[in-house]
Amino acid sequence: MNPDQIEFNKLLGQNQKDASVKACLRGGDKQLDCSGKIIHSHSIQRGKILASIADGGGESEGKVYHLGFAPAEDMQSMQPEFKLQGIKKFSTFAGFCGGHDKAIFQPIEDVAFTATAKQQDIYAYRAAAKELHSTLESKKFCEVFLGEKLNVDDFPPHFQMTLPAIKRGEMVVPDFILEGMLQGEKNHEIRTKHMQCGHSISELQQICDDLTDAIEREEPSEFEHIYHALDGACLVACCASFIPYFDHDGNRIISRQEEQRMAQSSAASRADMKNVMLNVFPEDGQTHIIFTFSKGNPSFKASIERLLKLEDEALKIGLSNIVLNYVENSAYGPKYINENFSSEQIASIAESFAVSAIDRSKFRKSNINLFVVNPTATTRQ
Ligand SMILES: [Zn+2]
Repeated sequence: MNPDQIEFNKLLGQNQKDASVKACLRGGDKQLDCSGKIIHSHSIQRGKILASIADGGGESEGKVYHLGFAPAEDMQSMQPEFKLQGIKKFSTFAGFCGGHDKAIFQPIEDVAFTATAKQQDIYAYRAAAKELHSTLESKKFCEVFLGEKLNVDDFPPHFQMTLPAIKRGEMVVPDFILEGMLQGEKNHEIRTKHMQCGHSISELQQICDDLTDAIEREEPSEFEHIYHALDGACLVACCASFIPYFDHDGNRIISRQEEQRMAQSSAASRADMKNVMLNVFPEDGQTHIIFTFSKGNPSFKASIERLLKLEDEALKIGLSNIVLNYVENSAYGPKYINENFSSEQIASIAESFAVSAIDRSKFRKSNINLFVVNPTATTRQ
């Protein structure tokens, strides 16, 4: 890595530290009724789920695989790959005080999963809360990164209009002006991201509030679940919230027009929200899948109903496509992956993950089935 890159990474690391958010999402602005300090909550349960996915021996003992990026051999680019992480840290976020964490999640931590409405609400809530926390950090990161430039428009319309021509070489300006314009363009992108984070936060906050009311006051929710169980405990787990622009087959379910409108403003009501929560986890010899979405999102509901009508293998491939394209927070058994997939398949899994991780508006369809049930595989109990 060259010195500039090292310096940049250091700065990035410091900015990320400065942008970390440690607060109880349940406590509100005043952190009322909070007890104990803010803890690192697991978005995927450690005791029941991660421990059953992690390897039981060898170098990867107590660790799971997750998909991420690492510097390529030439140090010039980042490459997607499976990375090992210990289950004590994996999937944690500093989003609840000790008291609230225990109070909210006990009904899914210590009790067997029987797919009650309340348990499904809690799983969905955790996915939304995790996403809310990470979006709060993204927004703060933009603020730290931009500093006083946050509210300064250094990419005015006449820059926006002339820069493309300069980039094409049709117009020439002095270097120092071009440099200023390029910096302005970059800052403008971050300001746009900052604004979009703000919209996402208000939507996710509403989703969390709605689900909290459903869980604590047993009020009807504006969200519904579709639950499905696969036979066999596949060592795959995820907990995520995302906006699905495409169905499992790569067909658009949110039009481009709608996508552009969504980038500009937040949803007018909960019914208009396109956010979807997905939880996948193995428990008691089955792999449980919970999709949660707004009652006003019939196109997503129809797409999942289509998916669940498919025969076994096609259904699992469709589900794999959804997980690989939309979910970052997912864990896999290291031996499960290495024993069931060839190195070409493993590369293809990482590739599918990377395409949409880099650009959320893209969908890479593959024919990988992540949900293999191998009766000879040694799984831990
Ligand atoms: Zn609290």
